[in-house]
Amino acid sequence: MEAELKELLHDLESLNQSLPDPSHRASIDKLRLRVEHLTSLEMSGPVRRLKVQDMSAEVVDSNPYSRLMALQRMGIVENYERIREFSVAIVGIGGVGSVAAEMLTRCGIGRLLLYDYDKVELANMNRLFFRPDQVGMTKTDAAVQTLSDINPDVVLESYTLNITTVQGFETFMSSLKNKSFCPRKEGSGVDLVLSCVDNYEARMAVNQACNELNQTWMESGVSEDAVSGHIQLLIPGETACFACAPPLIVASGIDERTLKREGVCAASLPTTMGVVAGLLVQNTLKFLLKFGHVSPYLGYNSLKDFFPTMEMKPNPQCSNAACLERQEEYFLAKPARDAALKAKMEAEDLSATEVSLHADNEWHISVVDDNELDSMGAASTDALPEGLVRELPSADEPQKLPGSEPPLTSIDDLEDLRRQLDALNSN
Ligand SMILES: [Zn+2]
Repeated sequence: MEAELKELLHDLESLNQSLPDPSHRASIDKLRLRVEHLTSLEMSGPVRRLKVQDMSAEVVDSNPYSRLMALQRMGIVENYERIREFSVAIVGIGGVGSVAAEMLTRCGIGRLLLYDYDKVELANMNRLFFRPDQVGMTKTDAAVQTLSDINPDVVLESYTLNITTVQGFETFMSSLKNKSFCPRKEGSGVDLVLSCVDNYEARMAVNQACNELNQTWMESGVSEDAVSGHIQLLIPGETACFACAPPLIVASGIDERTLKREGVCAASLPTTMGVVAGLLVQNTLKFLLKFGHVSPYLGYNSLKDFFPTMEMKPNPQCSNAACLERQEEYFLAKPARDAALKAKMEAEDLSATEVSLHADNEWHISVVDDNELDSMGAASTDALPEGLVRELPSADEPQKLPGSEPPLTSIDDLEDLRRQLDALNSN
């Protein structure tokens, strides 16, 4: 743009000199001023950040990765920088897919492959990510525009196609197989496929591709009434594929095939879609960077704030031939898997006897037996549900620490009581 404006100024100057009639010079000068004004506007525009060669852990305001690299220092992730080696394919750049793409971009993922056939519409503006000025652009191109601004280190590939058509499916398959980004990689050219589509046929197409390529993928979905959703991990041969069992959704009675029915407008909320995208990318990060527990299935019921989980084994009578092939391979590889697991457990036992963990135990932390916990729960009248702990001691349990400060004076107590009464009266 800047170069074009410069050229325009040069042309105007040449025109000015070649004109025999000086009466036109005033209008040319006017034009020249306008071009100079546009040039100054262009130069004061937003500055794009430059690519970063290595992810640094240096704590400075100008480092886009300092907060992510801190995960290593905190002991959550062993090697965060590995994220730059990974390729993730996102199918469906809608309310969930676009937000997942933005999260992975901000996390510094190596490469993102984006698939969608749709264009951005004003009707999409109740969701996150897309902007009104992008209306009419393809969702994949609009996503690349925004994401490359946010993080130019991410390699972005935009595929405007419908994976449920014969040609679209072929392009989808060949793009997943392309290994130019990481030639040493085993299997396909991507590390994970995320399905963020809104219909049954597209999910079946992703399922078919991933079963054929032996490609691990994660499925996500949000219900038609916008108040529940789920994510699911699918490892061909090891877990149920999408054709093994009828799709599982959190809210009952919704037939996913009716989602795109003629004349039916599905509801959507940026909140539910944002939560599901967050759960999906959290599971993705744990899967890729090998930390925490990777959920096989996690549901979200927003009306009750309920998160059901479960595991699903593959169906030996699955209608998908590629799924049956993967199941057989998984079965045949069992002895090798068992041997590897045994070797790992033996190595861990060895290191456990060699190293005495937490010898000093600075915080006096002790491990409580499960049975002990059960009896504690039975004795307590306000036991917390599984997985929750109180950050602070509960208010009705006075702290009796040896050598602690004497209790508050009666004046303090009275003042406290007065404050509480004032608060009650003001309601
Ligand atoms: Zn199956």
